[in-house]
Amino acid sequence: MRIAVITGAAKGLGLETARQLSNLGLRAILTGRDETALAQAGERIENAEWHGLDVADAASVATFFDWLAERHGRLDVLVNNAGRVYGGHGASLLQTDPEVVLEAIQNNAIGAFRMMQRALPMMAQGGYGRIVNVSSGMGALTDMGMGAVPYRVSKTTLNALTLLAAREAPAGVKVNAVCPGWVRTDMGGPNATRDVESGAHGIVWAATLADDGPTGGFFRDSAEIAW
Ligand code: NDP
Repeated sequence: MRIAVITGAAKGLGLETARQLSNLGLRAILTGRDETALAQAGERIENAEWHGLDVADAASVATFFDWLAERHGRLDVLVNNAGRVYGGHGASLLQTDPEVVLEAIQNNAIGAFRMMQRALPMMAQGGYGRIVNVSSGMGALTDMGMGAVPYRVSKTTLNALTLLAAREAPAGVKVNAVCPGWVRTDMGGPNATRDVESGAHGIVWAATLADDGPTGGFFRDSAEIAW
């Protein structure tokens, strides 16, 4: 049975991605910072287990992978979903504290970077791997708007790390970035245009790509979009 690790899985897109992967027969390992919320979420999903993990904390990532190696000895799918927004979407470049930009990069991009550094060697051992970095069109250089500077820069950084990891990925391992669209979660808010099921769909698609599927791409609804 394939082992899938999902970060930030106590709610929102992470939780729905875990649910859909479990429905497809994968063993979903939900991870997150709030262990109470995580346990409540995990109990609602068949074929799931859960473990505390703060991707912004190197020691937490190391502890998690030690546990994973001992418990399962393999990793097939990694969904780097954990992310948060920093400040209002309206704040301009001039109003933005550079320290907050660094904090956003730490959490939304370096967290995924750490996860990939531990995941790739495990996937190399198994000769199979699917890594999905949950990004955003707000990080696309070709579609750069204004405002939300920390969030945008963190997702652009995540996109760069996606490509770099794809270039170095061992045989059988695919690394892609996915924008879920504007989704009704705590982050997306009630006015977002998509429900969480359809938002997670494109993530699950990239997490279960066939052997001839793409790598090193940026996708929304299974269609390639520009970086
Ligand atoms: P939610 O706010 O509902 O969920 C985000 C989850 O990420 C939370 O469980 C949060 O945990 C977790 N998280 C944040 N930082 C960390 C961390 N350091 N370690 C572990 N977990 C962490 O948001 P969504 O479900 O909407 O977002 C999921 C992903 O999708 C994010 O990466 C987001 O940027 C991306 N996205 C969402 C869009 C939308 O419209 N909703 C649009 C485009 C992209 P905690 O509660 O502890 O903070």
